[in-house]
Amino acid sequence: MHALDMGEIQGQGYIGQALGVADILAVVYKDALNHRADEPEWPRRDRFLLSIGHYAIALYAALAEAGVLDAGELATYGSDDSRLPMSGMASYTPGMEISGGSLGHGLGVATGMALGLRHQGSDAHVYNLLSDGELDEGSTWEAALACAHHGLDNVTAIVDVNALQADGPTSGVLRTEPVTAKWEAFGWHAIRVDGNDIDALVAAFDSLREHRGSPAVLVCDTRIGCGVPMLETREKAHFMRVEEHEWQLAREQLAQRHRTHSGSGRATDQGEGPVR
Ligand SMILES: [Mg+2]
Repeated sequence: MHALDMGEIQGQGYIGQALGVADILAVVYKDALNHRADEPEWPRRDRFLLSIGHYAIALYAALAEAGVLDAGELATYGSDDSRLPMSGMASYTPGMEISGGSLGHGLGVATGMALGLRHQGSDAHVYNLLSDGELDEGSTWEAALACAHHGLDNVTAIVDVNALQADGPTSGVLRTEPVTAKWEAFGWHAIRVDGNDIDALVAAFDSLREHRGSPAVLVCDTRIGCGVPMLETREKAHFMRVEEHEWQLAREQLAQRHRTHSGSGRATDQGEGPVR
């Protein structure tokens, strides 16, 4: 809902991806990540690296819900002098660990960071959220080799498989399936889940917490625009054009979906889900 609000202010944005990974970010920030909202630079914190800089709109929403950012600041998204630029910048935003956007660099940074933390005797964990488009990048697989070679079990990669990238369906641009088998062949412990199923995500992160001996990857199949049928079915979904009158309709559809799921999932146990 925060992402829709920010998108409306700018009149555009990577809304489809933001809705697609909202469930993942909710579980990461509420369930997986060991961090301090009021001390984003806490040395013992788990690191969450967003290599897909254009997904920043989703991370800002999560950081607001996690208490790292004031929700009021989200209204500045994409404006001059805002700490919340449209593509994620580590030097601007509390809680933003790296400047993503040059795709395929996140896992390499995660590998180096994890090696450094291990040398320091830290038990902090490094997470890297990357896209299926980033699986086209050779640097991603170089990092995957190095990470496994060094036995970095303090790394968890999370791959957003929304089956789409800037130039079209991933399967048409460059075939990356079978994704899970490829990671396994590179020496990773791999799990694949429905990335829009909160219970499945919580169970997956719980099981990964116990894993030792190799890096782990959680492959998440997500739906672009998840929760807003009007956007789920839109063509040209990579960078969506949303008309002025559609933002309110999108909010209503998302709220409707949330109500529909009330009572059945743990996400609504406390009256509100992890994502507003
Ligand atoms: Mg993609």
